[in-house]
Amino acid sequence: MNDMDNELKAVAGPVLRPGDEGFDEERAGFNLAVRHRPDVIVCAVAAEDVRVAVEFAGARGLPVAVKSTGHGFSVPAEGGVLVSTRRMTGVRVDPDAGTAWVAAGARWQDVVAAAAPYGLAPLNGSAPHVGVVGYTLGGGLPLLGRSHGYAADRVRAMEVVTADGRLRHVTPDSEPDLYWALLGGRDNFGIVTGLEFGLVPVARLYGGGLYFDAVRTPGLLESYLRWTATVPEPMNSSVALIPMPDVPDVPEALRGRHLFHVRIAFTGSPEEGERLVAPLRAIGPALIDSLRDLPYAESASIHDDPPTPMPWSSDSVLLGELDDAAITTLAGLVTPGPAIVELRHLGGALSRPPVHPNAVGHRDARYLIGVLNPGAGDAPERAGLVRALAPWTVGRFVNLMGHGADAGPEQVRSAYEPATLKRLTTLKTAYDPEDTFRITYHLPPVSA
Ligand SMILES: Cc1cc2nc3c(=O)[nH]c(=O)nc-3n(C[C@H](O)[C@H](O)[C@H](O)COP(=O)(O)OP(=O)(O)OC[C@H]3O[C@@H](n4cnc5c(N)ncnc54)[C@H](O)[C@@H]3O)c2cc1C
Repeated sequence: MNDMDNELKAVAGPVLRPGDEGFDEERAGFNLAVRHRPDVIVCAVAAEDVRVAVEFAGARGLPVAVKSTGHGFSVPAEGGVLVSTRRMTGVRVDPDAGTAWVAAGARWQDVVAAAAPYGLAPLNGSAPHVGVVGYTLGGGLPLLGRSHGYAADRVRAMEVVTADGRLRHVTPDSEPDLYWALLGGRDNFGIVTGLEFGLVPVARLYGGGLYFDAVRTPGLLESYLRWTATVPEPMNSSVALIPMPDVPDVPEALRGRHLFHVRIAFTGSPEEGERLVAPLRAIGPALIDSLRDLPYAESASIHDDPPTPMPWSSDSVLLGELDDAAITTLAGLVTPGPAIVELRHLGGALSRPPVHPNAVGHRDARYLIGVLNPGAGDAPERAGLVRALAPWTVGRFVNLMGHGADAGPEQVRSAYEPATLKRLTTLKTAYDPEDTFRITYHLPPVSA
């Protein structure tokens, strides 16, 4: 360990080993069912710290993992070097260019707050505490996906430390291969220390939630699925079937019930929004109806995702077009139970190719369905549901893949079309032949 001390002396942030104060907090992810045991954690405060950590690992043949907020830190780090970027929180908005630049550890809530005074918004997802960089490199399925596409498609430039220990400036022109591979291939290709991306001119939304009692109002999923076929692109929506605990901090109207939560983010006028959601309101009496004209800065209230870490297991798949028979079958498969089931409506701008190509797969998908079982134990019915969805499944989405048996080589490959996977493997072999970046949804090089 002594040579470790010497070589990592150049790191400006803390360097933690097992037993050090703060080591356990630093290695923990948001999903408490996944345990990480790195040999050393480099708590980076600048790009140079990341570079030193990667160079150090490369010289010893150690694997490198990276974590910022821990929301997607799903592949267990067993040994090796963990680079923690959560101290790199810089955010800058350029209102004239309509862009934002963030450091590796920035969270979406900081970008939303910095962009809002200029009437601009980023393409963040449902939870404001998720990290910008991990989310964007995994594709980034935003609240405004149907109206504005994937977050990855807006990336202008990246600062990246590659396996050879070089800090590179990557744009679609300067390094087209690396630009393409990082956006979808994530940390298989390097650690991004800074990211610049385009914002969208969205200051207000018509949105919020409709909460129904899933047991007392049958046919909700079927009605929702049929409704999605009728709405225009600016209508972004999803639904979740959620068993709510019977505890005092849950609103009384929702306590102990199985909820069917419809989430709406419409970028048109509030009047048009009211008209479009009328068929949903007509399904039955809502326990809570929070649909309203709201500032984009309050968009986190639409999903109201829990901010505290917990243990869970999960899987998700992307579905193609659903015909009448498929809708009836799917609605019959998803019934109130112990799992949280979420279905997001895709299509629209998500299905169009980006201006600068990237490795985000399956743009033909029309829905994403995820199943999440709270708790550390196994939940075999999840695999059963995913198997039953096979006739309509077109693949997986990197950001919302599970862990353990839900994220094996077959699941990782299913996130990409065959030609994309082939090119990713070629580029992995070129940029990371020693497979330094393997503690992730792994794309092995040909040599490994
Ligand atoms: C409550 C919740 C809500 C979510 N909502 C959405 C959503 O609406 N849309 C969506 O697309 N996803 C969503 N996700 C998934 C989320 O985008 C991924 O888990 C994402 O990887 C989280 O990034 P992070 O930096 O916060 O997490 P971390 O756990 O810190 O990082 C996750 C992974 O991202 C990669 N990564 C992180 N930093 C870097 C870096 N600097 N360079 C290279 N790779 C890096 C690594 O593979 C790392 O293991 C959600 C997740 C949760 C838990």
